[in-house]
Amino acid sequence: MKIYADNAATTRVSDTALAAMTPCFQEFYGNPSSLHTPGQLAAEKLAAARAIFARNLHADPGEITFTSGGSEADNQALRTAAALGEKRGKRHIISTKFEHHAVLHTLQALEREGFEVTLLDIPPDGVVTAEQVRSAIRPDTCLVSVMFANNEIGTVQPIAEIGAVCRQAGVLFHTDAVQAAGHVPIDVEELQVDLLSLSAHKFHGPKGVGVLYARRSVPLTTLIHGGAQERGKRGGTEDIPGICGAAAAFDEACATMEQNAAYLTPLRDRLIAGLTAIPHTVLNGDPVRRLPGNVNVCFEGIEGESLLLLLDEKGIAASSGSACTSGSLDPSHVLLALGRPHEVAHGSLRLSLSHENRPEEIDYILEVLPGIVSYLRDMSPVWDELETGLRPHLI
Ligand SMILES: *Cc1c(COP(=O)(O)O)cnc(C)c1O
Repeated sequence: MKIYADNAATTRVSDTALAAMTPCFQEFYGNPSSLHTPGQLAAEKLAAARAIFARNLHADPGEITFTSGGSEADNQALRTAAALGEKRGKRHIISTKFEHHAVLHTLQALEREGFEVTLLDIPPDGVVTAEQVRSAIRPDTCLVSVMFANNEIGTVQPIAEIGAVCRQAGVLFHTDAVQAAGHVPIDVEELQVDLLSLSAHKFHGPKGVGVLYARRSVPLTTLIHGGAQERGKRGGTEDIPGICGAAAAFDEACATMEQNAAYLTPLRDRLIAGLTAIPHTVLNGDPVRRLPGNVNVCFEGIEGESLLLLLDEKGIAASSGSACTSGSLDPSHVLLALGRPHEVAHGSLRLSLSHENRPEEIDYILEVLPGIVSYLRDMSPVWDELETGLRPHLI
């Protein structure tokens, strides 16, 4: 059996997205900045895609900017808020310890440029509170950036409550909604967010297409200087096939959100129940306030990397920590922020499902995983010490 359970890393392009992309390569290939008919046909495609994002986010088309992906959207959002803060002499930014590196590393760069960053601790359930945000806000705070749903543990943050706190304090609020998009309803008015990032390849659209929503009152800082594309805020000829695929995928994901969540939640819960029945295994993040397809557990006494290789041999594609950190031996910053000790964080497994996963696949995963975990534990000197009492069990 071939099972793809790494949908938080990326997803398969849907038939709908592919069908929207295909004619853009050879039929609607004009440059949307050109005045002639082929150009204007491409411009119409671009406008239609922008309108789809605007409608589903409850925004205006003029508030939607296309980027090269979620990372660029995050960079541009943070740089925008920092530039606006700078003008008003406000150089303090609040974020969290479990953000994606596109946010964390941009914040590090801003620190080197003189900004002060407060990273909020992550409570044991993996859900940051609006109260934490409220007490961290200072008179010189120019931005709060809290991700909508975490990419490793899938926990969903109280974005509307945080938005209300920020609005009341007059502080800009950015949320990296890359993992939430297509799984959780997003209404930028209701949530009171000022800046929001999306990435098409996380909701069955193509890679290399991102969306940055910026409220009318927030003038974007340009990262890519060039032509007048995207109202002069993002130079470069627009990727019409990618943008059309992204819009079709987002429209479909929003339309099928409820039915997908109803389908996925019991599959997720069955995986969680089955995996946490393995001794010395713990679920990471709140069991309920998490994305419908996210499962993340730590198995004591094993290495996530070895687990992934054995799973891959059985045809199961999963992840340990985030794809960005795999290849390095550092345990996930998310699991450490959650309070897992290093040795426990190393034994993590993330299974992220999509509506394309079948119930039989869950049966198969639950059939093979306990055996793989025992096999790895039997070979592990650490497990030996845990079992003989030389080392205390941590979970
Ligand atoms: C994948 C991801 C990103 C980066 O998006 P890209 O389009 O791959 O650049 C940013 N934030 C989160 C939470 C993600 O999961």
